[in-house]
This record gives sequence, structure tokens and C-alpha cells, in this order.
Amino acid sequence: MARRSVRCRPMDFALTDEQELIRRTAREFADNVIWERARQNARDNHFDTELVERIAEQGYLGAIIPREYGGAGLDYVTYGLVVEEIGRADSAMRTVVSVQTSLVCSAILKYGTEEQKKHYLPRLCSGEWLGCFGLTEPDTGSDAANQKTRATKVDGGWRINGAKMWISMGNHAKVALIFAQTDPEKKHRGVACFLVDTDQDGFQPTEIHGKMGLHASDTAAISLDDVFAADDQVLGEVGDGFKVAMSALDSGRFSVASGCVGICEGCVQESARYAQERHQFGRPIASFQLVQSMIAEMRVKADAARMLTWRAGWLKDTGQPNTTETSIAKYFATEAAQWCANEAIQVHGGAGYVDDHPVERWFRDVRVTTLYEGTSQIQKLIIGRAETGINALIPA
Ligand SMILES: Cc1cc2nc3c(=O)[nH]c(=O)nc-3n(C[C@H](O)[C@H](O)[C@H](O)COP(=O)(O)OP(=O)(O)OC[C@H]3O[C@@H](n4cnc5c(N)ncnc54)[C@H](O)[C@@H]3O)c2cc1C
Repeated sequence: MARRSVRCRPMDFALTDEQELIRRTAREFADNVIWERARQNARDNHFDTELVERIAEQGYLGAIIPREYGGAGLDYVTYGLVVEEIGRADSAMRTVVSVQTSLVCSAILKYGTEEQKKHYLPRLCSGEWLGCFGLTEPDTGSDAANQKTRATKVDGGWRINGAKMWISMGNHAKVALIFAQTDPEKKHRGVACFLVDTDQDGFQPTEIHGKMGLHASDTAAISLDDVFAADDQVLGEVGDGFKVAMSALDSGRFSVASGCVGICEGCVQESARYAQERHQFGRPIASFQLVQSMIAEMRVKADAARMLTWRAGWLKDTGQPNTTETSIAKYFATEAAQWCANEAIQVHGGAGYVDDHPVERWFRDVRVTTLYEGTSQIQKLIIGRAETGINALIPA
């Protein structure tokens, strides 16, 4: 069945006064607080928990969560504006916001019982607790339904054994969303999601070193050895786990796309500024047509990425299906940001190769965005499936 086209009331691109205010506040916070520390944190491979606290105080960890659960009660478009600013300043901190808000909180909001929402959300939104999202495993990446981690029913709960890989904030999280197979014969319908308390012996995170970028972000390999989750720590029904993961990723992909719009925008601004200051052949390099061509293409990609991301946010805010449009935004914005970061270094010449200029960090940090929360190939397969009605994700 071919995809329905987006055909409903027209999208209004004008931001409200409140959205403009929130965006300006986020921009000032990103420039004055996050930006200041980003370069040094990256140099020191330092996961800056104090900075995470400052971000939480701003209300940015639970932006889309209703106020009654401790969130800021923002809509998606406004959340995207905030994430864009944080993403421009520091992808490592943007990763914290994306994981905590979109992957962890949004899953609890959608699938949690009232007790679970009241227990977890205020603590996560305030930053008192960090959460992590444990879907990927050493042998299970894009094929996320094929979970090797096993959950076995015991008195009063579940025992979980297995391993998780590449888990952002896995070394600092107080609660981990752990996806595990309860009945291999049921395949993806046997997967469950558990709200695992990380303060137990069997939960063993190990820091992953040597990343290309996101040096100031925490990434863990996690071993799960007879970890216990009580019955009331199952998120959704047993068997709902794959649905929980896909729904969380719909929110997470929007967040990653928004952060990448921020990187595109940063690349345009830094390149334009540098090109006006830097002189060669007795003139600013901005006066060379080939340099302007690079900047112009960056601007086009930045604007297109923003429009696609806002469309995905608007569809979410108006309660319309948006999985495909979110994949389109994620695919385009992440690829555009990589392209822009590469070109921005070109505009800077040799100066762009060291971290005196943010373009160096953007280039390294942005590389992961076409990998995590679904690779670009997976996004294309989601888009292709919607257009053709044929699922090419799984070989026939
Ligand atoms: C820094 C970092 C942070 C991360 N944070 C988290 C986190 O917090 N939680 C979490 O659960 N995971 C996290 N991940 C994992 C990330 O989501 C996975 O790396 C990603 O889903 C890809 O899985 P993989 O690495 O196993 O690659 P693979 O799935 O092995 O893919 C390798 C290549 O094969 C391609 N491929 C695979 N299947 C197909 C197919 N059917 N058709 C066409 N091409 C295909 C892929 O596109 C890719 O190019 C993180 C990863 C990194 C690097």
C-alpha cells in the first residue's frame, strides 16, 4: 500500500511570541553556558554532570513531558527549537537531552502506568536521575527485534541476562530501559521493556573509550547478569517491547534531526563570519565565488533540514501519523549536517583542522548521527517501504 500524502490543514511556519522567547532563551543559555565548556569537556573526555544539572534546571530534560509529571509541557516544534540551540553548542549535551527526554521520558509517558509515570518522570525531568535506553546489543544493531538478551519469569518479577552495547549515559543512569526477549518463539512479539534499577550487582556498565567524537558524552557497554526487575517495572505489556522501542525512536529521531539543524546553522554562521575576516589575495575570502558557493549550499541544506524537521514536529503536535516524515527529517538533517561540517572546515582551511574553531568538533561529533537511532540506510528503508508498500528491511 503506497503512502498517504500529507494533506491536511496547512502548516504555519510563523513562530508564536512564546516560541520566539523560548528559542531566544535557549540560544542565550547555549551560547553563555554550554558553549563555554564544550571545547574543554571534549578535550578532557569529561561527561559534565554539573552542566547536565544546569540544563535540567532550565527545564530542558523534560521539555515535552506534561507539567503534572514535572516536565515543561512544551509541544514538539518548541522542543525542537531548544534542541537545535543545544545541538549547535554541543552534541554531547544534546545527546543527553535526546536520550533523557525523547527515548526515556517519552516512552514512560506513552506506555507507563500512572504509578510508573509519577515515580519516574519527575525525577528524570528534574535531572535528579538520569536514564538510559538499552536496545542495541553486541550482535543486534539495525535488526533491533532480534534481541539476544533474555528475561525469565520468576516469583514477583523477571531475571534478565545478556549484554547491551553503545548505551549513552549507561555509566551514570539510575534507571535503564532494558529491552529483552521473553519468548524467542514469538520473535518481536516476545520482546518486553523493563525499567531496570541500575543500583544492583548484576548491572555492570563499562565505559567505551576511543570514540571519534562525542568525547564529552558517556557511552557504555553493559553486562546484565541475573538483573532483577519486578512485575511493576515492566513498561507496557510483556510483548510490547518492540512497539515501545519504535515509538521512542520516533521521538528520538526528531530530536537528533533538530540537533543536526543546529549544527548546519552553526556551520553557516561560522563560515560566513570567518570568510569575511580571513583575507587572501588582498581580499576577504568571502568575496570569492567558490567560497560563497560553499556557504550558499550550506544555507540551503540548513533551511531544508529545518523545514523537514518542523514538519515532523508539526505532525506530532497535531496528532497525525509521522513515522515516515520523522525518518525523512532524520535522514536529511543528519546527512546535511555531515556535509555542512565538512564544507565548513573547507571554508576555514587549515584553521578548521584544530579545535580553536567549533567546526572541528562539529565534524567529529556529527558523524555518529547517521548511525545512531537508526542508520541512514534504515531511514531510507522506512521511507521506501512507505512509498512502495514493500518491506525491504528484512530480506525476502
Ligand atoms: C556513540 C553512540 C551512542 C549510541 N547510543 C545508543 C543508546 O543510547 N542506546 C542504544 O540502544 N543504542 C545506541 N547506539 C547504537 C546505535 O543505535 C547503533 O550503532 C545503530 O543502530 C546501528 O547498529 P550497528 O552499530 O549494530 O550497525 P549494524 O546494524 O551492524 O549496521 C552496519 C551497516 O549495515 C547496514 N545495514 C544493516 N542492516 C541493513 C539492512 N537491512 N539493509 C541495508 N543496510 C543495512 C547499516 O545501515 C550499516 O551501514 C549508539 C551508538 C553510538 C556509536
